[in-house]
Amino acid sequence: MSHLEALKAADPEIRELIAEEERRQDRCIRLIPSENYASRAVMEATGSVLTNKYSEGYPGRRYYEGQQVIDRVETIAVERAKALFGAQHANVQPYSGSPANQAVYLALLKPGDTVLGLSLPFGGHLTHGWKVNFSGITYRAVQYELDPATHRVDLDRVLDLARKERPKVIFTGGTAYPRIWDFEGFARVAREVGAVLVADIAHIAGLVAGGAHPSPIPHAPIVTTTTHKTLRGPRGGMILSTAEHATALDRAVFPGLQGGPHNHTTAGIAVALKEAASPPFRDYAHQIVRNAKALAEGLLEKGFRLISGGTDSHLILIDTTAGAADRPGVNGKPAAKALDKAGLECNYNTIPFEPRKPMDPSGVRIGTPSVTSRGMREPEMRRIAEWMHRALAAWEKPDVLERIRAEVAELCEAFPPPGIRI
Ligand SMILES: *Cc1c(COP(=O)(O)O)cnc(C)c1O
Repeated sequence: MSHLEALKAADPEIRELIAEEERRQDRCIRLIPSENYASRAVMEATGSVLTNKYSEGYPGRRYYEGQQVIDRVETIAVERAKALFGAQHANVQPYSGSPANQAVYLALLKPGDTVLGLSLPFGGHLTHGWKVNFSGITYRAVQYELDPATHRVDLDRVLDLARKERPKVIFTGGTAYPRIWDFEGFARVAREVGAVLVADIAHIAGLVAGGAHPSPIPHAPIVTTTTHKTLRGPRGGMILSTAEHATALDRAVFPGLQGGPHNHTTAGIAVALKEAASPPFRDYAHQIVRNAKALAEGLLEKGFRLISGGTDSHLILIDTTAGAADRPGVNGKPAAKALDKAGLECNYNTIPFEPRKPMDPSGVRIGTPSVTSRGMREPEMRRIAEWMHRALAAWEKPDVLERIRAEVAELCEAFPPPGIRI
């Protein structure tokens, strides 16, 4: 931790906590599908003097002087985002994914207008119209669900709902949907009812950039994303759009919603976009999906019940309440806690048509972006499936979980994570 010398002198308590978190991220298998390891280059840009500068406005149109450097940084980030995704316009200022979505609402809707999105317990996001979120409080939110038999999006149902409710905006994308998003199909639905389609690719932006998931462009005129999930940048958000929506979206971000942009984050985003445009990133994106498929196969062999039967992407949703001959069923929360004790970090999650409470649901959600970033491949995925099976078979036995944790740490030692050991 030679890189935290000043912090060691100024605030040893926080320095030690950061060191502890670094060790934790190094020694466990991180399976939360929205998380990743940012590169050291991304973290250097993010931890720079750019944090000292105020830059309200956009390049060439600022309210403060001294933007000679910042304007160039933001312009590079914007141009890289446009080139990587083939977009006509990009705004890289949203503080994160939720504010990016909030800016879309502000740009396109008046309070009380109707928006259609995937329901949260079915794998949608809070900002797609969930009742306790600004999106469900301020707007008239209608929510689509998944097909009861396949647990996939049924576009005929979405179209029926859209015809009945006449939304002005339709959101696609989610947080716990393991299958390909049919952006072209959603575009047909949106066209049919005269709605604007917004593709929220927060989870899959890196897969899209690397060609491992179909792109929403040109089907969706507006695309929102985070920059820190599969895209492997610093925490942040972006909005991509057609030229038609550019001015309204820019105004919604600033001055509609935010003040000064986080310039250090913008620089980190620029670096991540450069990394994502490189040939190795294409291999990375495809390996994420190959790893997820290998992990899903390993889990199916151990008798796990996977929502929709498997995955096409980086993410797997498991109904842990369904046991096997040699493994009891266990609710999502105790399952996630047992796995964490075994060094396998994941999160408990609702499953489609969830019969239990959101704070104690039926499933756990896992994904492969982080393990792929540290170079793990199909053989390691099979070991992870085996460990998950053993850990849940012994979810009430701390000694067994502790033994698995030691085996996990040993494997991790051989796979140095970006930003920590490489
Ligand atoms: C993560 C996520 C967001 C929100 O991102 P934050 O950075 O946590 O605000 C929005 N939409 C989807 C689909 C997400 O997965």
